Amino acid sequence: MLSISVEEFLSWKKKQLSKGGDYQSFAFLIDCIGGISNSHLNLLKINPVGDLYIKKNLDYLGSIWEDHLLSSTPIQYLCGITFWRDLKLKVTDKVLIPRPETELIVDIVFEIFGKNSQKLFFAELGTGSGAISIALALAYPLWEGIATDIDQDALEIATENFIDSSEQSNLRFYCGNWWTPFESFKGKLDLVISNPPYIPGDIYEKLPEEVKKFEPKLALMGGYDGLKHIREIIQKAPLFLRDKGWLILENHFDQGNKVKELLTNNGFTLVEIVKDLSGVGRFTIGRYK
Ligand code: GLN
Repeated sequence: MLSISVEEFLSWKKKQLSKGGDYQSFAFLIDCIGGISNSHLNLLKINPVGDLYIKKNLDYLGSIWEDHLLSSTPIQYLCGITFWRDLKLKVTDKVLIPRPETELIVDIVFEIFGKNSQKLFFAELGTGSGAISIALALAYPLWEGIATDIDQDALEIATENFIDSSEQSNLRFYCGNWWTPFESFKGKLDLVISNPPYIPGDIYEKLPEEVKKFEPKLALMGGYDGLKHIREIIQKAPLFLRDKGWLILENHFDQGNKVKELLTNNGFTLVEIVKDLSGVGRFTIGRYK
């Protein structure tokens, strides 16, 4: 911990922000690496006196900010961390940075199963950093979870994140494409969740540079119409779900009706589009009979 005057810190902050970038990314850096939370930062503005403790010196923080501005690398990758729900997760460019809108998927599970649900077997397809599965494994210590990812490097990060967030052992990771590693779990799953790659090819090309250049294409691109992986997941889901088992999918803002149709055509009932906090039909859910 280093001690510096609040006045010096605030003038340094002003200088950094004048170079460009958005305030949110700057506050993220100051929190993650500097150890000064957003609320502390706001308090300093109201009462700019005295000294404060900071974890790293201003030159070091400034060099990360500079790197972010020059290379447009997402600040989360430069800090090696992101926050998602109440989790602090390690992220590298091997995994998609979990998005805030995806946080709601856990609330959908709470809504369906209640917060005190007893033993249940769930799976996540394409876990990336492990965010969704870890949140569920922690919220439901009696549940058993399995999660896949096609990328071994991503699974290593997910495993590390699980070990760092918990003492629990109710989540296991498997490497493979969608359902492939789950052959021995046919007909056994009560719940399957996935936030698969769903960006249509032409939209992918128009994504911001920092996404296209740094985040794994494999985790974003869903083929020409964006539904390639969602189709595969839905078509095989009846083989793996138990009777009355649930499937919860995240999809692109305009895919809800198509995903709904796919679910209905594959024998799902209680099919519903669930909106995210911006009012976008971001999730589609259904029960297998
Ligand atoms: N929501 C992410 C984005 O818009 C996409 C995630 C995904 O394809 N599953 O960048």
